[in-house]
Amino acid sequence: MIRVIDGGGNGFRRADVDGISVYDIKKTEKGEINNPEELVAFATASLPRGYEGICYVVAGEVSHGVVVRSPQIPWLNGVDLAERTGIMRTVVANDMDGAAMGMWMLEHPVYFLAMTWSSGIGLRVVKGGQILASSEAGHIPLDLSPFAPLCGCGQRGCAESILGGEAVMRRVIAEVAVRGEVIPDNLHPCAFLDQEFDKDNPWATDLYDRIALGMAIVLASYVSILRPGLIIWKGSFAKAALPRIADSIRNHLRSKLMNPVWADDLAFWFSPEPDRDSLIGGAVLFEQRKGLII
Ligand SMILES: [Zn+2]
Repeated sequence: MIRVIDGGGNGFRRADVDGISVYDIKKTEKGEINNPEELVAFATASLPRGYEGICYVVAGEVSHGVVVRSPQIPWLNGVDLAERTGIMRTVVANDMDGAAMGMWMLEHPVYFLAMTWSSGIGLRVVKGGQILASSEAGHIPLDLSPFAPLCGCGQRGCAESILGGEAVMRRVIAEVAVRGEVIPDNLHPCAFLDQEFDKDNPWATDLYDRIALGMAIVLASYVSILRPGLIIWKGSFAKAALPRIADSIRNHLRSKLMNPVWADDLAFWFSPEPDRDSLIGGAVLFEQRKGLII
């Protein structure tokens, strides 16, 4: 049994994981944990009998047990979480790594791209149950003009600053305001986009087509370099957008590749367990990395 804690800007979860079985999930609310001491107390509370160790999967850049930089959890920046936890067997990993390894553990695809499309964009390349690189698909430059939107990373025109759910939300708000329309109070701007797309409202179909084109350009780089046969998606934006624009993404992708058939060879799946994959993957990462801890 491995204790796994995952977390980001919206709070933390802790669970005890054995293979693909997840026990006793406990959640905190956003803002309930505000410093490393509170996080360690949450992580180590009521550890199960005979547990092997602890794995944190957190949003941000992680190296050798230290959270180097986490825009979502700034109070973890520079914190040696493994040392603070004080338990010999502690692994600290990135949450996208956790999700990718959870997808692998659940489906065992030999070679695939794990892709999160939510407020931001995350991607991992997984082959033979190993993450090949900490890819940054969200920060591929997509718009090189000086007027391109500013990205959270400080650059302009990154894929995430145009295609991420936050960016699309701002775009919908601006688009609707210029047209003199009003988004109903109880509706998220992205849900309004979905609603208007489903009604064939031209601004919404145009905007979604541009989003599909942008995602196709991002994927064209990965497909051309890595020739994956499968993308496993997760994330709130993917869940709403892909049923509407998966075909459009594939059509645009076909037009961007040396051999259009590569686009047809690329399967799209959804994570079978989007709420648990990062917890399950945390346990896999613990097994893979525990030997590296001294
Ligand atoms: Zn960026």
